[in-house]
Amino acid sequence: MKKTKTKYIKISKKEMMDVINILENEYKDAKCGLDYTTPITLVIALILAAQCTDARVNIICPILFKKYPDVYKLSKANIDDIEKIVKPCGFYKNKSKSIKATCEKIVNKFNGIVPNNMEDLVSLPGIGRKSANIILQECFNKVEGIAVDTHVTRITRKIGISNGKTQEQIETELTTKIPKSYWNKINHILVNHGRKYCIARKPNCIECPINALCKKND
Ligand code: SF4
Repeated sequence: MKKTKTKYIKISKKEMMDVINILENEYKDAKCGLDYTTPITLVIALILAAQCTDARVNIICPILFKKYPDVYKLSKANIDDIEKIVKPCGFYKNKSKSIKATCEKIVNKFNGIVPNNMEDLVSLPGIGRKSANIILQECFNKVEGIAVDTHVTRITRKIGISNGKTQEQIETELTTKIPKSYWNKINHILVNHGRKYCIARKPNCIECPINALCKKND
């Protein structure tokens, strides 16, 4: 028998703010899970973090930076050597290409300095809006949007805040609905929530602190 599609249920603005405040209180110490010391170390960590855990990236990055301590050295690194080092992060061929091409672009086009604006950041290979938002917030104290990753996509849909089809649509919807003072926290809060309760394959709704408010959309 053909399965009927369940209707997406939206949360009210008041309920959404209650959800955000409950989660903000639950994850008071939520912060970026990637270790970094400078903008370029965060750029590289974000390239490596695609489909990989932060914990693994935090192990691999120091190995890479020990051998190639700055953007100039990395831009001249042998691609085979980068591949060997970053292999444990998965998709290592593409990631190595992006790392080298990004470092070359930063050296050749931006005088060796990681750009501090959205347009230039998203022009770097391997850096999309999500990563650019994180770099702007973490390194330059600039809040221009909300970093939308798989956790944000899944959980905002479940709760009933956004059913956008693309990360761009979701970001636009979230930035329209959520007050700007929360934008830099939303990603970190939802990443924590996605790891603790709203786990992709098996959400723990019974113990979830926003169970009463969440619309539990499929
Ligand atoms: S109630 Fe369930 S679906 Fe909703 S946020 Fe919590 S764990 Fe996720």
